Amino acid sequence: MLNKILKETFGYKDFRLSQKEIIDAALSGKDVLGIMPTGGGKSLCYQVPALALPGLTIVVSPLISLMQDQVLTLKDLGVAAEYLNSSLPIAQRRDIEEKLVNKELKILYVAPEGLLNSSFLNTLKNIEVSLVAIDEAHCVSQWGHEFRPQYTKLPQLRQHINNCSWMALTATADKKTQQDICKQLELKQPKLFVSGFDRPNIKYMIYDKKNEIKQLDEFIKNNHENQTGIVYCLSRKKVERITDQLQGLGYNAVSYHAGLPAKLRAENQHRFTYEENIIVVATIAFGMGIDRPDVRFVAHLDMPKSIESYYQETGRAGRDGAPADAWMVYGLSDIVRLASMLEMTEASEAYKKIARQKLDAMLGLCEALKCRRQVLLEYFNENYPEPCGYCDVCTEPQETWDATEDVQKLLSTIYRTGQRFGPTHIIDVLRGSRNEKLVNLGHDSLSVHGIGKEYSKSQWNAILRQVLVKGLIRIKDWEFNILSLTEDCRSVLTGKTKVYLKPFKKNQKVIKKSKKTFDTDIDQELFEKLRVLRKSIADEYKVPPYIVFNDKTLQDMCYIKPENKDQMLLVHGVGESKWEKYGELFLKEIHQ
Ligand code: ADP
Ligand code: ZN
Repeated sequence: MLNKILKETFGYKDFRLSQKEIIDAALSGKDVLGIMPTGGGKSLCYQVPALALPGLTIVVSPLISLMQDQVLTLKDLGVAAEYLNSSLPIAQRRDIEEKLVNKELKILYVAPEGLLNSSFLNTLKNIEVSLVAIDEAHCVSQWGHEFRPQYTKLPQLRQHINNCSWMALTATADKKTQQDICKQLELKQPKLFVSGFDRPNIKYMIYDKKNEIKQLDEFIKNNHENQTGIVYCLSRKKVERITDQLQGLGYNAVSYHAGLPAKLRAENQHRFTYEENIIVVATIAFGMGIDRPDVRFVAHLDMPKSIESYYQETGRAGRDGAPADAWMVYGLSDIVRLASMLEMTEASEAYKKIARQKLDAMLGLCEALKCRRQVLLEYFNENYPEPCGYCDVCTEPQETWDATEDVQKLLSTIYRTGQRFGPTHIIDVLRGSRNEKLVNLGHDSLSVHGIGKEYSKSQWNAILRQVLVKGLIRIKDWEFNILSLTEDCRSVLTGKTKVYLKPFKKNQKVIKKSKKTFDTDIDQELFEKLRVLRKSIADEYKVPPYIVFNDKTLQDMCYIKPENKDQMLLVHGVGESKWEKYGELFLKEIHQ
């Protein structure tokens, strides 16, 4: 029966990852904690049992836009689903409560703050609940990275409904967070399912920051012309600036950050949801509400503060399973800024310590001379034995060079100047500058003055950054970025240990998509035609294009070129309901 639901309602052939196991556990009445990567298909884990079980499935989801999107998708699949939240007009709310009482609903999405609303609890009294599913369950834990206090009240719901299976789902939770989720939600002997973190359709690329806007422009032009993407920046100001620059370059770009007037923010989010070929430039405030499956690239112009954040943000690319890029440029200033922001916060020392480790790990990923995917997965304790073959490190082989002598020069300069200065001053001394500060300090007469003339400032920055990541120096004072030496540098200074660094990349080359991830064999002309048809249908029904069909489905149509209903039903994402609504239209277009 489960396979029938999967095929007929959702149009999919097989369950993925641990979907089947999670669903089976829920159907047998057990509590479940499911960890699945973004795009892995968490929603299906509760949507399929919702249709298989007799009563109502309640889904707790943190964001309104997310609920709207899911309900829209479900309704289009012919599933009786609704959502309740504070933004709903009273009349509509009544309507939904009436449907609930009449047992006309299979799935109800509720925001955590609305769950314990008394009128809602009253309505629930006479209703059989089959399953409670909690999406983004890491929000319940203070160990997670997006703690939401309302989530901790969820177990109170237990007093108001019958006994049933509870299912917690999240994409990112380490061991400690997993345990905490079970405890906070009072799950009873929960069955744990952890699926791999690998996102095979994402290509990871991390480069040195030179001229970020030029690099970004090149990257998009070479790889993602007329596609949809997200560009992340650390500050609101930068978001605005980059948006202007991208618009100046002719891109359809909008801004998104928490400082925008609510109306404009909603408008931009709406545009991002409904338009094709749009780029949103955003702070990390943008994301939780985004369920758009056809984001083809996520670009970072600033380094995230942890691998978890990087993984989650890049994970917004390619949720439909079609190829997508995660691209980033970073520089020394990013590291300094993030680290000093951390030191300036009033958080406890214990928190700062963990945060510092997370930042270090992120830096380690950036500076790695090893396959990005391997480093990423190792961080999540997953074994990925062979290099992936299509990240930037794999495709643009990294050579190393013996930088011992230059590193010694750098270390000596830090030592000779008394371990009291930041990168700018140290590099000035190395390069033999005679600026006022330097001369006043008498640093122009030091033996190290001018011993590093052969490198530019940015080249010294690149060396310094790697030396920092290797732990040979550290930033002693974050307010003034003062560098000092660590114990580890001793053996480098004596020549016992050699230091190998990444070579400077003079001309950043953006490598074209590799065959392994990108299916370029499809009929592009047909694909474009189907996109146009999809857009006109979407406009008519006033839904985002991907609600009609996602990119993967269109690609599959171009590949299979179905000629009749049976063949159309073989296409990824086409079930009975989709067939009835759009099947003939697409068949006709393909025929022509
Ligand atoms: P997430 O785990 O990030 O919540 P979603 O539930 O949004 O992921 O699913 C991501 C995409 O994968 C959606 O387009 C969904 O329809 C699709 N999907 C989910 N399960 C399957 C499956 N078994 N076969 C094919 N596609 C699937
Ligand atoms: Zn790789």
